[in-house]
Amino acid sequence: KLTSADFIQALHHIADRIEREKDYLSDLDRAVGDGDHGVTMSIGWQAVKAKLAEFGGESGCGEISKAAGMTFLNAVGSSVGPLYATAFLRGGAVLQGKTELSDDDIVQFWIAAVNGILDRGKAQPGDKTMVDAWYPAMKAMESGRAAGKDLAACLEDAVRAAEEGAEATAEMLSQKGRSSRLGERSVGHQDPGATSAYMILDSFYQYVK
Ligand code: ADP
Ligand code: MG
Ligand code: MG
Repeated sequence: KLTSADFIQALHHIADRIEREKDYLSDLDRAVGDGDHGVTMSIGWQAVKAKLAEFGGESGCGEISKAAGMTFLNAVGSSVGPLYATAFLRGGAVLQGKTELSDDDIVQFWIAAVNGILDRGKAQPGDKTMVDAWYPAMKAMESGRAAGKDLAACLEDAVRAAEEGAEATAEMLSQKGRSSRLGERSVGHQDPGATSAYMILDSFYQYVK
């Protein structure tokens, strides 16, 4: 069982990981984009961190997630703003009013969040975006759950799938977002958004396992 206090700490954990990886993420974006992905994610997650101070053990996880999404949207002025806002709003809808989360709640949270990213950004797997990390991660969670694995095992599979998915973007030709303007020159560089997606899921897993 994950309590609201745990959920808040897991989000702090994500924000702290993004902060540590900020320069690396901007370096990746320098090769295929405008070099701001680490800064963008840092601004968004630091704003979420500050917002979390308004919540406590009595807060519903859905309300916390929705506040995180709206805060991220208002803080971030790049492509990832509406994508993660939609993710945390959709994920939050699944956790509405819950102060204790079951394994299924958490799996459903991530599935709803990833579907939000897919709906909002309209990227397909293979387009060289964060979807290349999130989509296989979501599929791994679904099949792990269907096979009766516990949450930690499902998340472990999902994290591995996200990491492999992010690494595989290096060989892809960008079809979406700023890097698509590079055409062939986008090949050979790992996508920054897919890389931070892996980091988000991994830091969540590291906290809850
Ligand atoms: P910007 O390109 O506005 O500077 P960032 O650098 O913060 O935004 O984020 C870039 C990342 O956003 C890309 O690496 C890619 O993973 C992701 N991205 C861009 N467009 C989409 C989309 N339509 N769907 C999913 N992810 C996307
Ligand atoms: Mg950028
Ligand atoms: Mg930018």
